[in-house]
Amino acid sequence: SREWHLVARPQGWPTLDDFALREVGVAEPGPGQILVQNTHMSVDPYMRGRMNDVKSYTPPFELNKPMDGGAVGVVAAVGPDTPGYRPGDHVLHGLGWREYAVVEGKQATAIDPDIAPLSAYLGVLGMTGLTAYSGLLRVASFQEGDTVFVSGAAGAVGSQVGQIARLKGASRVIGSAGSDEKVQLLLEEYGFHAAFNYKKGPVAEQLKEAAPDGIDVYFDNVGGDHLEAAIGSLNVHGRIAVCGMIAVYNATEPSPAPHNLPLIIGKRLRMEGMLVRDHFDLRGPFVDEVGGWLRDGSLRYRETVVPGIENAVDAFLGLLRGENIGKMIVGLAD
Ligand code: NDP
Repeated sequence: SREWHLVARPQGWPTLDDFALREVGVAEPGPGQILVQNTHMSVDPYMRGRMNDVKSYTPPFELNKPMDGGAVGVVAAVGPDTPGYRPGDHVLHGLGWREYAVVEGKQATAIDPDIAPLSAYLGVLGMTGLTAYSGLLRVASFQEGDTVFVSGAAGAVGSQVGQIARLKGASRVIGSAGSDEKVQLLLEEYGFHAAFNYKKGPVAEQLKEAAPDGIDVYFDNVGGDHLEAAIGSLNVHGRIAVCGMIAVYNATEPSPAPHNLPLIIGKRLRMEGMLVRDHFDLRGPFVDEVGGWLRDGSLRYRETVVPGIENAVDAFLGLLRGENIGKMIVGLAD
């Protein structure tokens, strides 16, 4: 079985030399444990932060140990005193970046491949989906009739934020993304009212053009110039849900923008950071509502699946570069 180790702490953009794919034996599951053959693993932007040796909301990856993260797979063996599992069951758990994982039975969640493809439990029906749902509806206090702007809009979280806003009665949904192909997808497949390519001109100007009457909610996945543009376009009592700031994850210098923070006062804006783990209580309504929209076709999603554990680091770096449309997934086995 193979697993990825972090072997050096990246400075700025990570390189392949910071990682090693190592061969290890497959362990037997002990009491209370299951052995899982992972079929899909998630690569996520937050993992970049865990490569730094700094105290944060999740502990850093340890050097020369397997990295971890969301994964789904098939139960290959069940240890003694592990109630509730049989070989062949499908589970979601937190020990990705490896082909086989020994998981505490209590830390795995049973999932049903007849309801949705396994990879969906890492994306549209999983962590990124719940981030979109809770961030928009709870953190940003979305109200029917709001005009919503979301950055990173062709990605896993962003594409779902925009569609949930539309389905919940937003008066206008605007998205930004990094290619014309992605912009077209937002307009034609996801039903955004307006969208622009942030690489083609200043974000502030493009946003003003897309939202001439301003915006009420900004769902931030990017930070930097996007956040500055949103503060400029937000209406009085507007809300910002700060979900991510991917534009600065590899930065070696502090970010210069936003320059216009004093506008927060006069506009009485509310800006709130979020972590999806504070919102697991919304999982029930989230799965019911999003599951319904998936079944009736009103919510669409894409995944970019990179096959092979040997390509997992390339997939992670590709995610940071914007090579994905929708959730970036690594396929490990059928
Ligand atoms: P995405 O699927 O959105 O993939 C990341 C995307 O970011 C890329 O596809 C790329 O698209 C875009 N991007 C990369 N660099 C830049 C840049 N400099 N400026 C603008 N866009 C850039 O990832 P996720 O949906 O998983 O995550 C989206 C955001 O949400 C991230 O910031 C992540 O950290 C955050 N997040 C936060 C959570 C929380 O609990 N707070 C939970 C989950 C995610 P493009 O081609 O458009 O540039």
